[in-house]
Amino acid sequence: MALARSPLQGQPQEDGGELVQMALDVAGSLDPREVIARILERGTHAVRADRGTLSSLVDDQVVVEATYGRGGELTWVGQRYSLDYFEGQPLVKQAIESLQPAFGGRLALDQAAPEFRQALANVRQVAVLPLVHGGKAIGMLVFSRYEEKPFAGDDRVALTLLSAISGLALRNARLYEEGEAARQRADGTAARLRAAVDAAEDVASQVRLDQVLGRLLERAAASVGADGTSLARLEGGEMVIESTPTGELVGTRWPLMPKVLAGVATGRAVELSAAEYTGAPPGMESVVQPYQRFLVAPLVVGGETIGLLAMGRKADEPFDAAAVQALQQFSTRGALLLRNARLIAQARDAEQAKSEFMSIAVHELRAPLTVTGGYLAMALEGDFGDVPKPLRHVLETAQRKTEEAKALAAELLTVARLEGKALTPNVKPVSVAEAVREALARARPRAEIVQANVQMEPGDDVTVLADEALVGKILDNLLNNALTYADRPPTIRVGASREGEQVAVSVADDGIGISSQDQGRIFARFARGTGPLVAEKPGNGLGLYLSRGLAEQMGGSLQLQSSHPGKGSTFVLRLPAVAS
Ligand code: ADP
Repeated sequence: MALARSPLQGQPQEDGGELVQMALDVAGSLDPREVIARILERGTHAVRADRGTLSSLVDDQVVVEATYGRGGELTWVGQRYSLDYFEGQPLVKQAIESLQPAFGGRLALDQAAPEFRQALANVRQVAVLPLVHGGKAIGMLVFSRYEEKPFAGDDRVALTLLSAISGLALRNARLYEEGEAARQRADGTAARLRAAVDAAEDVASQVRLDQVLGRLLERAAASVGADGTSLARLEGGEMVIESTPTGELVGTRWPLMPKVLAGVATGRAVELSAAEYTGAPPGMESVVQPYQRFLVAPLVVGGETIGLLAMGRKADEPFDAAAVQALQQFSTRGALLLRNARLIAQARDAEQAKSEFMSIAVHELRAPLTVTGGYLAMALEGDFGDVPKPLRHVLETAQRKTEEAKALAAELLTVARLEGKALTPNVKPVSVAEAVREALARARPRAEIVQANVQMEPGDDVTVLADEALVGKILDNLLNNALTYADRPPTIRVGASREGEQVAVSVADDGIGISSQDQGRIFARFARGTGPLVAEKPGNGLGLYLSRGLAEQMGGSLQLQSSHPGKGSTFVLRLPAVAS
């Protein structure tokens, strides 16, 4: 969505929206290289530095990952240095040891590695930010200015925020990458094993992991000749039941029985009598009572025991060698599946943590904006005495900027809720004609400024099943874009028609259009068009991403139907129709 343009573009960073956007932009990816690129790009511009360099701290080494020059060049470095190297750079040392940003003049040139000397010769002012996670520095960001202009109060606020967010974002991305890589390795091994074991066919055809585990247990019980089975993970000295064919006992914790501990130590299956199979959680004793004999095999992956596969027999008959061998085969597969399940859960948690983090960041940033907005309104209303004319102008601009930032924060919060699956539409029958009329009324002031000709085409009288407020938001975004992306007074046509089970609402303009290259990306988060005219217009690249997400959340869709550079664009919103 393009925000209304304000006359004081390019003013200093009192605009909190810039910070909000920077934070969310940085946190918005799980690809470490993309996160690094965003941190450098957004950070360098936000604090008006000439160069930004990001390094990771791994054990006692510093890995210089990438450096970004304000002209837009990003260079991947990948060079490693010993931490000792920074002994000669007190500013760096201070930031890493105190875990606080450190500011100062140039770095010590004579102490620098030869390959840095030339770059450092130009530097006049430096800010070193440690990237902290879990009380430890996991990286650092160095911003430098080639002018003798120290990093001032405003910049320091932005830098402190950037450092906190970058630390978290980088850590999240790394965790996710590790989880993904491990999962892929496990998948590879599992695939090879599946090919070798004939009974795996139908196990592998189950889509959901809990079903896969359940199926594995059933097959294991059948081939071992057992009446009951369970699969548990090991946690400290306890086992936690992860799966049983009936779902009974799942989630219960048992202390490890002495014989089972011995089995874990040797990596072999052990047999237990009913008297030896102890530790059922209170109230659950009756579940194991019918069983006379137990066979328990450790689940081992890469030399590590991660769980246990247990079989129970109701008859008091010992398990023979063939049963033990069969169980061994199933425990290998069970181990891989269990590890897979865990890695997938980890990856899901990382995704969830990212969304939660976004919500928290926006909430945190909204509170000060509300306070600032309140004070500005009071000042303008004369609560603090008469406001001289020149100051009034400045206060009004500040108020407008604060409102823009608040609108942006609200939009980002919607993004976070949408991505965190925390947005539930309040669906009711909504008259499309009415929704369009209201959106056009809201757009009128802007339409008058750009002298747009906005028409509502006579169409079908249609009603959709949707959330009225969300439909309004989508229409506002589409109309705002149609009013913004034009190089002369635009003509905009809004129409609605029934298409079977759906209603199609089209918003067509005769503006600048969208290049075929941009058409593939404008619905992505933070994606903006690449044309020179787009760069002139303020916007954050969230409008279409959000609008499509909202439409899909209501069981509908949003598409670019057609667009021709220089001739205009038509977007179509489809929503479920109320049966007539
Ligand atoms: P924003 O307007 O903030 O950039 P949007 O997600 O609303 O974000 O739009 C993404 C991009 O799609 C815009 O930057 C612009 O390049 C292009 N775009 C959207 N609507 C139109 C339109 N009606 N005409 C031309 N370009 C458009």
